[in-house]
Amino acid sequence: MSQTKVQIPFADLSRTHTLLKSQFLEVTSKLIDNSSFILGPEVSEFEKNFADFTGNRHCVGVGNGLDALKLSLKAMGIKRGDKVIVPAHTFTATWMAVADLGAIPVACDVYPDTYNLNIQSIGKKAVTGVQAIIPVHIYGLPCEMDEILKVAEENSWFVIEDNAQAQGAIYKAKNAGSMGHINATSFYPGKNLGALGDAGAITTNDETIANKLRSLRNYGSAKKYEHDEVGYNSRLDALQAAYLNIKLIYLNDWIAERNRIAKRYQANLSGLTRLQFQHTPGGCLHTYHLLTILSDKRNELQQYLSGRGIQTIIHYPTPPHLQRAFHALGYRKGDFPIAEKIADQTLSLPLFIGITQVEVDEVCGAIIDFFTTG
Ligand SMILES: *Cc1c(COP(=O)(O)O)cnc(C)c1O
Repeated sequence: MSQTKVQIPFADLSRTHTLLKSQFLEVTSKLIDNSSFILGPEVSEFEKNFADFTGNRHCVGVGNGLDALKLSLKAMGIKRGDKVIVPAHTFTATWMAVADLGAIPVACDVYPDTYNLNIQSIGKKAVTGVQAIIPVHIYGLPCEMDEILKVAEENSWFVIEDNAQAQGAIYKAKNAGSMGHINATSFYPGKNLGALGDAGAITTNDETIANKLRSLRNYGSAKKYEHDEVGYNSRLDALQAAYLNIKLIYLNDWIAERNRIAKRYQANLSGLTRLQFQHTPGGCLHTYHLLTILSDKRNELQQYLSGRGIQTIIHYPTPPHLQRAFHALGYRKGDFPIAEKIADQTLSLPLFIGITQVEVDEVCGAIIDFFTTG
């Protein structure tokens, strides 16, 4: 059987990177000349820029998003046996960071319209002994933070935002990545602010925590060859920092562009009642890291689109509580019905900087054909 050639890719980073390539080469050349490969001026500059961008006093660059979460939890004193609330609908990293420290992920179901953590849905028993909560701004839409911060304060939980998908998002005039005690993000290449390799960062307003993080990412050391604690090697790579400094300048424009593309999809597909878009509540700026639809015919739709040369991706087909990695936590199918429904029905459509209106209209036309003739 011949494979259908992809005509409209899910994402095409080269359309952005081609335009930035000469700038990338310039900073690469400069770095080769000055040899400041580890924690040099590029890293400090990016940390300052990203702290400013998110409205934080401090930013600590680390190796990737998973490490950003892990070091955040560790800096807040989360240890073996502690409980941390995590959404039932998220990328596995949120749970793995908790589990890696020997702490226990306590899952909480999500809202059926925003797909974000619904703290009201968790039982009293589940939250006894909880130390922290990790709201994830899923697909780039901020969580209901007022509610989460209120419940967290009442219960003395630390709040760690997982801002990997939502750099630049806004919740009631506040920046995503500035509302928790500590906030972790990822610059995985596919994120809205993506490096050309692995990278991540943590933001906070607390200087003591920031210093702790600087030590943790660098072998538990504040002064060379003096180690106050057992740490990690998870430093933001200087080359990635240099690339991120270039890309950060464009991020707000890119978010605006992603919103325009999302609007076009929503307008084109508004006549289809069998299809649901993620609901953006008032006061929120969505970054559209992902534009998703829910459909009870998801698998057939994906197959059909693939046959027409349109690539889509499922984020994510299996929720963490049903993954083998978390089997020991004892969760079962049916425990988080809304997260499970999303996993069964969600489909992410092509949305990337440089996608043309013609391409968006072609994807929409194919979806309309599927529902009206298929
Ligand atoms: C991408 C992502 C991460 C992890 O980022 P990496 O840099 O790939 O380790 C964590 N949480 C969420 C929600 C993500 O989307």
